[in-house]
Amino acid sequence: MIDLIFGTQNPNKVAEIQQLVPDTIRVRSLADIGIFDDIPEEQNTLEGNAIQKSQYVFDRFKCNVFSDDTGLEVDVLNGEPGVFSARYAGPQKNSEDNMNKLLLSLKNETNRNARFRTVIALFWKQKLHLFEGIVNGEIAKERRGSKGFGYDPIFIPNGYNQSFAEMPSVEKNKISHRGNAAKQLIYFLEENT
Ligand code: IMP
Repeated sequence: MIDLIFGTQNPNKVAEIQQLVPDTIRVRSLADIGIFDDIPEEQNTLEGNAIQKSQYVFDRFKCNVFSDDTGLEVDVLNGEPGVFSARYAGPQKNSEDNMNKLLLSLKNETNRNARFRTVIALFWKQKLHLFEGIVNGEIAKERRGSKGFGYDPIFIPNGYNQSFAEMPSVEKNKISHRGNAAKQLIYFLEENT
C-alpha cells in the first residue's frame, strides 16, 4: 500500500479521489498526518499555489503528496478573476458577491468566453509533476440553477444549454476542469505504481 497525501482540509475531496485511484494507493488527508493549519497559498498563479501547497507538505514529511488550485479565467478580463476567484469581491469569499461583481464587469459585454482551469501539483517519488484540466464555456447574463457552488450558476460549458448549477453533479464531473485534472492524475498513478 502506497500512501498519498491530498493537501486539502476538505474531507469530501479526499473521499472522492480515494474512490478513483488504484487500490494500491491510500489517500490520506492533512488531518491524518497532523496538519490542521491552513497551508499558505500566496502565489499569483494557479501553478504557483498548487506547488506551494504540495511543497509545504513535502518539505516536512518527504511523502507523496498532491494539491490543487482552481480559477475561473474570463477572456475580456485578461484571465481574471483567475487565481483570485474565491476572493474576487473581497476577503469574505462570498460566492453571491463574486458573481455580482463578475456580472457587473461583463455588463453590455458580448464576448463572454471563459474557462475553469484546475492545476494539480504532485510530488511522486520525490519528483514534481503538474496536471491541468480545463473546461471552456461562457458567462451567462444572469444566474441559472441552484446546484453546485461558487460560479456554477453563471457558467455554461461549451456545447451545453445548461449552466453547471442546472446539471446533475455526475454530469458536471464528467466534463469539469477538476474532473479532467483528476483523470490525468489517476492515469499517471495507474502507470506509475
Ligand atoms: P479552489 O482552488 O478549488 O478552492 O477554487 C477556488 C475558487 O474557484 C472557489 O472558491 C470557487 O469560487 C471557484 N471554483 C472552483 N471550482 C469551481 C466549480 O467547479 N464551480 C464553480 N466555481 C468553482
